[in-house]
Amino acid sequence: MSTNVPLADCCTMGIGGAARHFTTITSLEELNGALRWAGENREPFFVLAGGSNVLFSDAGFPGLVIHMAIKGISFNEDSGSDGVVVQAAAGEDWNAFVDTCVERGLQGIECLAGIPGQVGATPIQNVGAYGQEVSDTITRVQVIERTGGDPFWISNTDCGFGYRTSRFKGRDRNRFIVTAVEFALKPGAPPLTEYRDISRHLEQARIASPTLAQVRDAVMAVRRSKSMVVDPSDPDSHSCGSFFTNPIILPEEAESLRAAALEAGLITADETMPAHPTSDGRVKLSAAWLIDRSGFKRGQRHGNVAISSKHVLALTNCGGGTAREILALATEIRTRVRDTFGILLEPEPVLPAITLPPS
Ligand SMILES: Cc1cc2nc3c(=O)[nH]c(=O)nc-3n(C[C@H](O)[C@H](O)[C@H](O)COP(=O)(O)OP(=O)(O)OC[C@H]3O[C@@H](n4cnc5c(N)ncnc54)[C@H](O)[C@@H]3O)c2cc1C
Repeated sequence: MSTNVPLADCCTMGIGGAARHFTTITSLEELNGALRWAGENREPFFVLAGGSNVLFSDAGFPGLVIHMAIKGISFNEDSGSDGVVVQAAAGEDWNAFVDTCVERGLQGIECLAGIPGQVGATPIQNVGAYGQEVSDTITRVQVIERTGGDPFWISNTDCGFGYRTSRFKGRDRNRFIVTAVEFALKPGAPPLTEYRDISRHLEQARIASPTLAQVRDAVMAVRRSKSMVVDPSDPDSHSCGSFFTNPIILPEEAESLRAAALEAGLITADETMPAHPTSDGRVKLSAAWLIDRSGFKRGQRHGNVAISSKHVLALTNCGGGTAREILALATEIRTRVRDTFGILLEPEPVLPAITLPPS
C-alpha cells in the first residue's frame, strides 16, 4: 500500500490531489484484504478503474483508493443459441477487450471501440456509443458486496440498466464492487452500421459491406475526429468524455420547449430541434445542442480549463486546471442552459468526495 499518491496521474482529466492511501488489487483475495483494511482502519474507500469518468477533488481523497487490476478473459464457444459467452475480469482494458472480440469475429460491441477505461466499469453507467450499449450484450455481472465476501452474479434484468445508468450507479451505488462481466456475442453476425456518423464514414470510404473490423476502425476514426479517444498529445482528450448526459423528457415537453425556443428566437421556423424517440415513449434531447444554443462555443476557455475545441459536451484540462475550475465552468453551463431552456443538465462523471478547499 502506498500513501499520498497523486490522483491527477490516475485519471484522464489529469486533475486531483493525493489519495491518502492507494493500493492496486490483482485478485479477489487482495480485494477482500483491502476492504478488510479499510474497515478496520475506519477509512472511506473508492474503487478506481481507468479513471476516465471521475473528477477527483483538488483536496484529493481522504481515505483508501482501491485500483482494480483483476485480469482474465475466457471464451465459451459452445454456448448454443446464446452465441459465444465471454467472461472478462473487471480490470481488463475495455478497448483491448473489444479488439480481441472483433478479431475473433464476435459481433455486439464493435461500436463501443475506443471508450476508455476497464471492463468492470462498463455496466456502472451502461456505456454506450453509436447505437450500442453494453446492456445489449451483457448477460450477467459478477459482484461482491462492499463489505467483502464471495462473488455472486446479478442477471442483466436485475442490473436496472437505463440510458447511462444502472443500479450500480443509482440505488445501489455504495453496495457492490464489480469483479467480472459476462457477455453473449454473435459469431459471424453482420456489424451494426445504423448510426449516421458511422454509415457516412463507411460510404465516404466506399465500403458497402463492412466487416466487423472495418466498422470498429470507422468508429475509431470518427471518435478521433472528436477527440473522444484518449491521446496524451491531444489536449482536447484530457477530459471525462461527455460531461453531461442527454436529457430525456416527455414528447409534449419537447414540443413546448421547441415552441418557446422559436418564440425566443433561439431557433428559426425551418430548423429542427434534435430530439430522438426512446424505447419508453419519451424523447432524448441533445445536451450539446442545448449548450450550443445557450451561447457556449467550442474552445471557450475559463482559466486553465476549457470547452473542447471539437464539441461543446466535453470539458477539458488545458494544463494546470483544477476541479474547482471544472466545476465552476460546469455550473455556469448548467445555470445558463436552465435559464435558457428550463432544463437542468445532469453531470455524467462521478465526483468522489469532492470537498472544495476554502477560497
Ligand atoms: C475521451 C473519453 C471518451 C469517452 N467516451 C464515452 C462514450 O462514448 N460512452 C460512454 O458511455 N462513456 C464514455 N466515456 C466515459 C468513460 O470512459 C466510461 O464511463 C468508462 O466506462 C469509465 O471507465 P473507467 O474504467 O475509466 O472507470 P472510472 O472512471 O475509474 O470509474 C467510474 C465510476 O465507476 C466506478 N467503478 C469503476 N470500476 C468499478 C468496479 N469494478 N466496481 C464498482 N465500481 C466501479 C468508480 O468507482 C467510479 O464511480 C468517455 C471518457 C473519455 C475520457
